[in-house]
Amino acid sequence: MDFNPIDRGEAIDALDAVADPGVDGRRTIGGMDGEAVRARVEDIAGGWRAERIERLQRRHLERRDFDDLRDAGLLTMPVPVDLGGSWVDLEQSSRQLCCTYRALAGADPSVALVSSMHPAVIGYWLLRTDAEQKDWEEQRRAVFESALAGEQWGTITSEPGSGGDIARTKATATPSGDPGFLPGDSYHVNGLKHFGSGSGIADRMVTTAIPDGEEAPALFALDVAGRPWDGTAGYELVAEWDGVAMRATQSHGMRLVDAPAMRAAWDGPIEDLAGPAVPLIAMLFTSVVLGVLDAAVAEARPRVAAKAEALRAYEQVEWTRAERDHWLARQAWDGAIRSVEHDPAPAATYAALRAKQSIADLAEDTTRRLSRVLGGGTLSASAPFPHWFEDVRALGFLRPPWALADDALFATSLQLPA
Ligand SMILES: Cc1cc2nc3c(=O)[nH]c(=O)nc-3n(C[C@H](O)[C@H](O)[C@H](O)COP(=O)(O)OP(=O)(O)OC[C@H]3O[C@@H](n4cnc5c(N)ncnc54)[C@H](O)[C@@H]3O)c2cc1C
Repeated sequence: MDFNPIDRGEAIDALDAVADPGVDGRRTIGGMDGEAVRARVEDIAGGWRAERIERLQRRHLERRDFDDLRDAGLLTMPVPVDLGGSWVDLEQSSRQLCCTYRALAGADPSVALVSSMHPAVIGYWLLRTDAEQKDWEEQRRAVFESALAGEQWGTITSEPGSGGDIARTKATATPSGDPGFLPGDSYHVNGLKHFGSGSGIADRMVTTAIPDGEEAPALFALDVAGRPWDGTAGYELVAEWDGVAMRATQSHGMRLVDAPAMRAAWDGPIEDLAGPAVPLIAMLFTSVVLGVLDAAVAEARPRVAAKAEALRAYEQVEWTRAERDHWLARQAWDGAIRSVEHDPAPAATYAALRAKQSIADLAEDTTRRLSRVLGGGTLSASAPFPHWFEDVRALGFLRPPWALADDALFATSLQLPA
């Protein structure tokens, strides 16, 4: 099925289409074929590999890359198949989704990380259903429709002092009565937020804030598309991203000034939405970094082979350990994906966080070892290795970052069997 995601009319037609079993039993009418999307994204990534050094040196995102990914159907992967996307359920779709971002990351880690925020945050709506909550179901449908229409989602939730905990927000939300861009209640959000990966590319961004008169934080969707960053339309740029890792992600710091927002229509605490989504979110970020590691080891292998005869014992050991750690990282990834596919949320969260933190360690160790085997030239900015070395370090800081993840792991370790 040809798909022009910008055409909202077509997206709505797709939503209304009746899903039929295809010839091979797969539901194809009204839904995208996830394997076809993945193949198209892998083709795009293949083309990008030829531009790898230039891409790794970029400090900005290119709109065209995201247009190409959107046209390949990437934004529709977290949309339920009977509504026009390719998501079936965690068991059938999480590996495919994570593999797609893993492949993309080997070609462009920054674009892959920014892109991965889209299914990560749509996961809040995707993985929590409640037929009794009509407002929630209506809003879910609108979020999926937005993705089908080609709108890119991201998140600017982190706040100074929050340690990556989305519930520790100091931002405030005031009912605005504005006409909404989603069904639900409209608000204005005020506060300081940072690490907004994909700023300037995303159309919608998720955040948290404390609604007026309430104590608990709530989840909001922000309308960020095309807004200037001078404070006149909701956003004031306070810190342009100057990262040495994930350099091009435009993970800017912003002051939100009466930023137009729609409150998540879920009637219940924010934990009800975050809980089911955590395993998939953790594995999406882990897949991005594992994709970088796959690329680094693949790039190193022929170089090591070319000088195998001349390698000193130390270099041989470093290479062997790099390969061993990469293998361990792949096994951890596979085990955690299997848990996400089959286990209930607490066990899947435990597996996903253990894999995320372990792979963060293994990826840092592996890229350091590769550099030692391959020599000082790997510190040149015109080689991919120093970029990958920094990029993999992002994983431990992505949600949930080191300390928060370890809190969760420690607490869970005493409740679940190892
Ligand atoms: C590469 C990367 C991408 C991320 N993407 C997202 C995202 O899309 N959405 C999201 O909500 N969170 C994102 N995060 C944040 C992450 O989820 C954690 O919340 C964060 O790493 C928590 O770390 P911390 O509390 O130790 O922060 P700290 O290390 O304490 O960070 C806070 C401090 O970092 C500095 N800082 C913040 N932003 C900038 C900037 N733009 N330029 C320079 N310095 C800055 C400020 O001094 C700030 O006080 C990202 C983090 C990284 C490393």
